[in-house]
Amino acid sequence: MGLEERLPGGFLLTTVERFAGWARRGSLWPATFGLACCAIEMMATGAGRYDLARFGMEVFRASPRQADLMIVAGRVSQKMAPVLRQIYDQMPEPKWVLSMGVCASSGGMFNNYAIVQGVDHVVPVDIYLPGCPPRPEMLLHAILRLHEEIQNMPLGVNRERAARAAEEAALKA
Ligand code: SF4
Repeated sequence: MGLEERLPGGFLLTTVERFAGWARRGSLWPATFGLACCAIEMMATGAGRYDLARFGMEVFRASPRQADLMIVAGRVSQKMAPVLRQIYDQMPEPKWVLSMGVCASSGGMFNNYAIVQGVDHVVPVDIYLPGCPPRPEMLLHAILRLHEEIQNMPLGVNRERAARAAEEAALKA
């Protein structure tokens, strides 16, 4: 007989990591900003019809220091790139980035000098969402996929530091 069967009712076994992941995924707070037309769909996702609040995410924060999710909603101009990076740097760890729409993910139709050809040139991206613009259902789907990733994320990992270390190790090899 397993340990769980021997416990009296009302007890639940889990690990600290899984509990922390469950709490984190249920309380993501996105930073408040939109860059272009995709942001209109993001706003619609937060409104009553699609009700982002169902997933603990109704609080879009005006301060990056209180946000742990950056939704890059729209094309990123070269002028905006340093500002976007600064907002990202001001967000505390752990934090995640969702690239919303084809323009944010690859420059899309704006294949020109003024637009960054993919926001992953500026910040690390956790999930890419295609579409022009992605509908609110698609944004919700991407957020739920991100929830799964967060649920299983080990505690204490700084992805950028880990990626830099891996890059340095690869260069040395
Ligand atoms: Fe606008 Fe489409 Fe680009 Fe989104 S993907 S920013 S809707 S042009």
